[in-house]
Amino acid sequence: MNNKVKILVVEDEESISNFISTTLKANEYIVVTARTGKEALSMIPSHCPDVILLDLGLPDLDGIEVLQKIREWSNIPIVVVSARTEEADKVSALDLGADDYIAKPFGTSELLARIRTALRHSIKGLPNAAQDVFELRGLKINFDKRQVTVDGKDVHLTQIEFKLVSLLAKSAGRVLTYDSIITELWGPYAVKDNQILRVNMANIRRKLEKNPAQPQYIFTEVGVGYRMAEE
Ligand code: CA
Repeated sequence: MNNKVKILVVEDEESISNFISTTLKANEYIVVTARTGKEALSMIPSHCPDVILLDLGLPDLDGIEVLQKIREWSNIPIVVVSARTEEADKVSALDLGADDYIAKPFGTSELLARIRTALRHSIKGLPNAAQDVFELRGLKINFDKRQVTVDGKDVHLTQIEFKLVSLLAKSAGRVLTYDSIITELWGPYAVKDNQILRVNMANIRRKLEKNPAQPQYIFTEVGVGYRMAEE
């Protein structure tokens, strides 16, 4: 019997592919690798990976194209791997259904954290609908009661602030893009203006964080969106 998690690593750069494979194998994952987009697409049906690590810069197909093709028929968690030159691409990838991203260069712990989060969310289903309380280092959110406390003290959030915090908490560990948050909070026709999000986030941090300049609950992913920390 084999309960090991299988990860498909789609990466054309040999040194990076080897680094990822070695790291994952050392942590009890099964690894299969593909060097091109076409190879990846042909391998998925037969290998049925649990998570796909997808480099955006591939020699044949665009990583985004590969992502779209996979999403036509599968919800396998996909973590895109992007280089600095692919900043805009990683946001498109997230908006097109990637579960998360990791930026090159990255270290072992970040890689493993992204994989664990992607797996956890795929097992629980998205979002964590069944969970009614979220707890993280003194922060407690009761979704049903719409109550937020920090170290046992009530925090008064506006309706939008509460929705924003809840949304991030239900996807804790994953980055949510500015556009996806705006769509979720104000609907698909809302103007994609990040300024209103930034204002709300500043207010939330003032209310939740001990030091709003160095948040411990909600992190900003510059140019991408926000990520709620998880244990
Ligand atoms: Ca590449």
